[in-house]
Amino acid sequence: MNVLDCIVIGGGPSGLSASLILGRARRKIMLFDDDTNRNTMTQESHGFITRDGIKPQEFKELGLKELEKYPSVSFAHATVTEIIKDKGNEKFFVKASNGQEYVTEKIILATGIQEVFSIQGIREFYGKSLFSCPYCDGWEQRDKPLVVIAEKEKHALHLTKVIYNWSEDLVVLTNGITLSPEGAAELQRRNIKIISDPIKNLIGEDGYLQKIEFETGETLLRSGGFVAPIYYRTNQFAEKLGCELDEDGKVKTDGVGRTSEKNIYIAGETERNRPSSLMISAAKGNKAAVSVNTDLTMERF
Ligand SMILES: Cc1cc2nc3c(=O)[nH]c(=O)nc-3n(C[C@H](O)[C@H](O)[C@H](O)COP(=O)(O)OP(=O)(O)OC[C@H]3O[C@@H](n4cnc5c(N)ncnc54)[C@H](O)[C@@H]3O)c2cc1C
Repeated sequence: MNVLDCIVIGGGPSGLSASLILGRARRKIMLFDDDTNRNTMTQESHGFITRDGIKPQEFKELGLKELEKYPSVSFAHATVTEIIKDKGNEKFFVKASNGQEYVTEKIILATGIQEVFSIQGIREFYGKSLFSCPYCDGWEQRDKPLVVIAEKEKHALHLTKVIYNWSEDLVVLTNGITLSPEGAAELQRRNIKIISDPIKNLIGEDGYLQKIEFETGETLLRSGGFVAPIYYRTNQFAEKLGCELDEDGKVKTDGVGRTSEKNIYIAGETERNRPSSLMISAAKGNKAAVSVNTDLTMERF
């Protein structure tokens, strides 16, 4: 069987960037992607220099197009379903939804994360008028009447203070949670209203929020806002392959993508199980790819 130098799982900014570096380093690699990137619903991505306002799908297509220049890079539009390692982590056998099996010396996990919302209906507005990252979408929401929906005091305070930079017209919704008197006072000092009533429904059209209905029967007119989701990895590849995690669930690395397990590297949001950005994820992919190439070079020289 043909043994690849590296398999990159995930074609978001981290995996695309890793693949580009490895292709340019003449490494024989296979990139897998199944179009489940976290930002699929987004209208425009912001803050990636030279690509401010780009649609996520266009970003991915441009990345894949750039890879076509490098003959040692292959791409499969498929889901990786299983990774089996041999004794000593010398080889990995990778199964994918296209029915093919691949063998590789090294693996970069770049599969991203996803979010869940405890409030029904948020997803309908997510990426159009409700967002999680002010650096990504704050500018477009500037000076608008916004909500901050957060069910933990820590998140409610942090997110609200950050969003206040973009709009001072804020109402904080805690969906049934009561903030501490100190926490509430911090927000009220800036004339920010706090509503702790449980949320019944979010109402709007075509993803654009118009109002929020509470269990009490009250309603609040708002055109958008920010939410604090819970994030999770959609697979357990790192755990199953034996990579060490810290107490917060972050995969331990050397800072440049090497995990505790030989020949297994990690890049992008999946490493820390935390949201970041296109630019930071791409940079992490770049770092992990350089680590892969350095290790291949030294092992074979
Ligand atoms: C609503 C919203 C708006 C955002 N706006 C911005 C913005 O304006 N600017 C910005 O910088 N960031 C923005 N982000 C954040 C940005 O999307 C992420 O930081 C970035 O996509 C993370 O990159 P990643 O490569 O780690 O993961 P992802 O981009 O999520 O990519 C992971 C890839 O792995 C693939 N994959 C997963 N599992 C498998 C598998 N088993 N087999 C094969 N493929 C697999 C998926 O198909 C996916 O393409 C936004 C996010 C959201 C949700």
